[in-house]
Amino acid sequence: MRLKVLGAYGASDAEHNLTGYLIDDWFAVDAGTLTSKLSFVQQARVQAVFITHAHADHVRDLPHLIQNRFSLNGPPLTLFATRDVMDQLSTHLFNGIHWPDFSTIPNPATSKPAVLYRPLAPGKRVTFGDIALTAVNVHHQIPAAGVILEMNGQAIVFTGDTGPTQDIWKRANKTENVVALVTEASFPNDQQSLADETAHLTPQSFGDELKKIVADAPVYASHRKLPFERDIESQIRNLRDRRARVLLEKNYTL
Ligand SMILES: [Zn+2]
Ligand SMILES: [Zn+2]
Repeated sequence: MRLKVLGAYGASDAEHNLTGYLIDDWFAVDAGTLTSKLSFVQQARVQAVFITHAHADHVRDLPHLIQNRFSLNGPPLTLFATRDVMDQLSTHLFNGIHWPDFSTIPNPATSKPAVLYRPLAPGKRVTFGDIALTAVNVHHQIPAAGVILEMNGQAIVFTGDTGPTQDIWKRANKTENVVALVTEASFPNDQQSLADETAHLTPQSFGDELKKIVADAPVYASHRKLPFERDIESQIRNLRDRRARVLLEKNYTL
């Protein structure tokens, strides 16, 4: 499986991008960075997006991806999220004020809407094309869920934003052939109390989460906040665990 990391940070500037991942060019996880780094042709290949939670840094490009889908006269984009997260997206984002609800607007050329909402029950495995996905709740300030994606005999785990958590690791530990896990380390170790209050991880608590994971696979720290990214990166290295990695904005072959 190919993982294209479009954004690996919890803040943005000219050289760092908000959370956005693309699997095999057609399945996206989070939409902080999608349209801003993908051509129209590449956007047209995206068939589905899983959104971990409604925070702005994870949905920034989603309204524009849907708008572009409408303009392309393409098949609908499938939007996956847990029921709780979907409710927040409907109430706060696609509410007709912040942005239109494109799920209710048929495209005149295709008579289909640009987006279809697929609310998920946490813990329930569903299939979509060649992929199976299982949303699992994590611990954040607002309703949030990570996702386990399985395709072609491989699995990859994304927690999204989370503080210390359990269920997604338990589920991942029961999943066959996990080839990578992507979680977060938002703040450096000297901001542990801020990380705890805001339900995020530091390299230190990332290290504690590592102990809950049985897979012998790389565990990536994403969502590093600026301007602390260098401190966080050196603290991840100092864990001296060969699975602990910093997620970079590049293409990975898993
Ligand atoms: Zn975030
Ligand atoms: Zn968040």
